[in-house]
Amino acid sequence: MKPYLREKVPKTLSEIPEYTVFEAGYLVSKNAGWRNVRPTVDKAKCVGCLKCYLCCPDGVIAKQDGKIAIDYDFCKGCGICAKTCKLGAIEMEAEI
Ligand code: SF4
Ligand code: SF4
Repeated sequence: MKPYLREKVPKTLSEIPEYTVFEAGYLVSKNAGWRNVRPTVDKAKCVGCLKCYLCCPDGVIAKQDGKIAIDYDFCKGCGICAKTCKLGAIEMEAEI
């Protein structure tokens, strides 16, 4: 386990880093080239509940200005975030 995770266990949501995986040092090079669909966020519908942020298996959803932002350099297009959002703020769209 990375030292970050051993030494700094978050107790509240605000203590969780902006990018969960980046700050733990796991992602070092772009790896989303094979994705064929991508999640798009409707910021008007997003209420910033962070469910998608907590459920993304790759930790590539960031907290940003009370809402979220997705890093497409690392998102795999799995669609879990879209399934997680009960407000329909995330939709999967085909890559062009
Ligand atoms: S789950 Fe939906 S409403 Fe909640 S932060 Fe994610 S996109 Fe926004
Ligand atoms: S599609 Fe998958 S990898 Fe990409 S942001 Fe959503 S949950 Fe994370």
